[in-house]
Amino acid sequence: MNNLSNLLHAASFAAQCHTGQKRKGERGEPYINHPLEVANLIANVGGIDDVDILIAAILHDTVEDCDVTGDEITELFGELVAGCVLEVTDDKSLPKMERKRLQVEHAPHLSDGAKIVKLADKISNINDITNSPPADWSIERRREYIEWGASVVAGLRGANESLERHFDELMERAITKLG
Ligand code: NDP
Ligand code: ZN
Repeated sequence: MNNLSNLLHAASFAAQCHTGQKRKGERGEPYINHPLEVANLIANVGGIDDVDILIAAILHDTVEDCDVTGDEITELFGELVAGCVLEVTDDKSLPKMERKRLQVEHAPHLSDGAKIVKLADKISNINDITNSPPADWSIERRREYIEWGASVVAGLRGANESLERHFDELMERAITKLG
């Protein structure tokens, strides 16, 4: 299969996996909007045309949030894609605060591809927290999430300047809005 058909295969596969899942925001958007936004940011803000990174972006939440395994991704999309997805997948057997601490700790040690996916993931989530937050999240909780996101991103710098600049502009808007 060529790059384009692989990319479309990944989009269709992720859409199937996330069927019925919704984002937590008040707009209740279909979950697939998020991985598609992450891949779009990487291509059109980050200027990245490495198809393995773009496919990993589309699939980045399928292991964490669906029944998909790393082996299945390897079989369908290859080892590079599976490796990148697994690098950005939290170990859900750990308590939440531990998972959040590990994201900060692991960020500087990720491969460049995984750093790019993680950075675009944080851009998408912080944009959502700013513009379509979960209805029951207080301003304080939104602030805490954004501060934590920024501490993960601090460890991701050096892999893509355009995405980093985009993140910094987003942070300025988020801080202006949330105080
Ligand atoms: P969660 O991990 O529960 O939720 C954020 C995650 O949900 C994102 O990383 C994202 O992950 C996914 N997501 C789905 N929809 C959205 C959306 N619309 N906007 C943003 N994210 C979405 O958040 P936390 O538990 O980390 O809460 C943030 C902070 O608040 C923490 O630092 C915690 O300490 C604190 N906290 C405060 C509470 C309070 O009541 N004050 C209670 C609990 C926590 P993905 O990319 O995988 O989709
Ligand atoms: Zn995500």
